[in-house]
Amino acid sequence: MGAPRIVVIGGGSTGSFITHDLAGRGFDVTLIERGNILGGTSGRFHGLLHSGARYAVDDVKTAREGIEDNLVISKIAKHAVEDTGGIFASLKGDDQSYADKFVSGCKAASIPVEELDVSKLLEDEPFLTREIKLAFKVPDKVINSFRFITSLLLTAKSEGARIKLNTEMVGFDSDGKTIKGVSVRNRETGASEKISSDLVINASGPWVNNILSGDLGMKKIDMILSAGTMAVVGRRFTESVVNRLRMPSDGDIIVPFFTESIIGTTSFIVEDADKVEIDEDDPKFLLEEGSKMIPAIKKCGVKRYYAGVRPLLSSGNDGNGREASRDFRIFDHASEGVNGIITIGGGKLSTSRLMAENIGDFVCQRTGVKERSKTDSIELLWPDIKKEKLDDLSRKTGINVSVLKELVAETSSKTYSDIYSPVNDIVYSRMLFD
Ligand SMILES: Cc1cc2nc3c(=O)[nH]c(=O)nc-3n(C[C@H](O)[C@H](O)[C@H](O)COP(=O)(O)OP(=O)(O)OC[C@H]3O[C@@H](n4cnc5c(N)ncnc54)[C@H](O)[C@@H]3O)c2cc1C
Repeated sequence: MGAPRIVVIGGGSTGSFITHDLAGRGFDVTLIERGNILGGTSGRFHGLLHSGARYAVDDVKTAREGIEDNLVISKIAKHAVEDTGGIFASLKGDDQSYADKFVSGCKAASIPVEELDVSKLLEDEPFLTREIKLAFKVPDKVINSFRFITSLLLTAKSEGARIKLNTEMVGFDSDGKTIKGVSVRNRETGASEKISSDLVINASGPWVNNILSGDLGMKKIDMILSAGTMAVVGRRFTESVVNRLRMPSDGDIIVPFFTESIIGTTSFIVEDADKVEIDEDDPKFLLEEGSKMIPAIKKCGVKRYYAGVRPLLSSGNDGNGREASRDFRIFDHASEGVNGIITIGGGKLSTSRLMAENIGDFVCQRTGVKERSKTDSIELLWPDIKKEKLDDLSRKTGINVSVLKELVAETSSKTYSDIYSPVNDIVYSRMLFD
């Protein structure tokens, strides 16, 4: 008998990491993604590889998972991570007592935290406001999700996974009780195909409930779709990520991304992840709030803005999404009488490796396969400019050396806007994975 056949729906950070985890354990995996490399939220997020400190006060579990995966991802995906460090700064007028809760939360979650000398900080980061009263340093980092996801897919491909981008899952094959496969449609050519499976993993982020079929008896997941707008400013002002030292709120973080800065975010609930309307005041609001931490930012103006949708699990008391948990969970639809499909909901890009390992363990248990996850030690494949390394990667993935060379050139020393361009997304999806 061959290896169990797994179909993963959704090629964001969650589905791509699951594909790598399972292919690395020897499963026969096919990834179905209806868009390109940056099809969903993972292509429209803030760029932070969390240290966990942002959640240290009210969610120590998420904070601890954040620092754990931060350390692993920095090691296995060096090509995608910039070790900027992060600053949490309290300004004049902010509640200074929050600092004590912040420090004890970081300690409880094992996040290294160090109080900074404010005058020294202002020498090192001269664009920061002089209104800073108190500041702490934590190991926040910046992650380029285009490089991260592309390298996950390249690695999974070298492990034998089939990557089908631009391919939408449109239906299930079922005998009424068990899912036997999926029907997919190529969005460019319109061609349809059936793919058989022993297990389908629904990892479609904010779209998980669209996949679940009520006709077959699958129950919807209790999710909250929390959208957020981010504003890109055409200049980098700081070496470090800058956060306001207070409970997470709107416009309280600035992420330096290559030569630009991303101010974020807002938080508002949407019913449908395909219909997100950005409030026209959001960019102005973000610029205004961002300028409280970096006054010069206001002079730059917003170059571009965009929004993504957080696929969060509802805790019943989610407000505008800020109060909702950042935890993740696996849902087994066998409990509803439908076998052959599981769903993963919640989480963050920064905890995608941990989510994948949990899914991998679940699938191993279900199928009787005894293989440990190796994702905490496998360095993700990424083209290196050295000829012998390019040749090696080309051999492992079957991708032409000149295409790999161009990928390095296109994603090195570029601005956020260059890397996250729809043109790059389409071109590289075709060149690498068609
Ligand atoms: C405003 C904002 C800021 C954020 N900032 C950060 C941050 O700084 N750091 C961090 O760690 N996290 C951050 N997050 C959270 C993080 O971006 C998400 O948790 C993560 O990207 C979700 O990944 P995913 O793979 O689960 O979902 P997605 O990336 O959305 O992937 C799901 C995929 O499923 C595909 N799909 C849907 N339907 C189908 C179908 N029928 N067939 C095939 N494919 C389908 C979609 O095209 C999509 O690509 C942020 C989120 C938002 C909204």
